[in-house]
Amino acid sequence: MTEQTRRAAHAVLIASGGMDSAVAAYVLRDRGTAVTMLSFDYGQRHRVELAYAAKIAELLDVPHEIVDLAGVGGLLGGSALTDHTVPVPDGHYSDETMRSTVVPNRNMIMLSVAAGVAVSRNADCVAYGAHAGDHAVYPDCRPEFYRQVDLAIRAGNDGFLAAGFRLEAPFLEVTKADIVRRGQALGVPFSLTWSCYKGGIVHCGTCGTCVERREAFALAGLDDPTEYAAAAGPEAVA
Ligand SMILES: [Zn+2]
Repeated sequence: MTEQTRRAAHAVLIASGGMDSAVAAYVLRDRGTAVTMLSFDYGQRHRVELAYAAKIAELLDVPHEIVDLAGVGGLLGGSALTDHTVPVPDGHYSDETMRSTVVPNRNMIMLSVAAGVAVSRNADCVAYGAHAGDHAVYPDCRPEFYRQVDLAIRAGNDGFLAAGFRLEAPFLEVTKADIVRRGQALGVPFSLTWSCYKGGIVHCGTCGTCVERREAFALAGLDDPTEYAAAAGPEAVA
């Protein structure tokens, strides 16, 4: 699905604290859609991202809720993001090695909660920031998943959804570089977004999502305001 023209009145947006969901928040606001940002604490190693989501919500002056799923995260062993015995791999975001960063069923879990919140608050949209670069490694970011979840939300909430309800993934077929360009045009403060899977004080610069972040700014031809601990490696385009 590409960006739609008819605007939603109220969107519940899954907001990680990263660039994609931050740009999605600005896109929705630009359309005149009221936004509620929903972030998830699932015991992720890079939990620091939640504070960045809060900063974006504060800037936009929109409600921000953090859903406590830390107990669930503890059950999702085997992923480098929730299991501290599994190291975060370095390399390119689309590498096969990034499979260890997949959190089992993550988007299904988050979208399920977000759909419940949307029904509860009579919001006519649930939005999330999956993009084309996610497709290779993360099955729950692919168009097929989007279509099935859209159907499942409709079936599971038949008679309870706000009129005109839709699931929105505005960047589903959009590259990360194009998301950065779009965000730049909308004035998104990228320095107030967090990508690094390792957490820490500054971005590591070498994990998959750091490499992808660097690459996106380079491909977009824009200055990257991010402070990285390590210089760009051979994987980066810069
Ligand atoms: Zn990193």
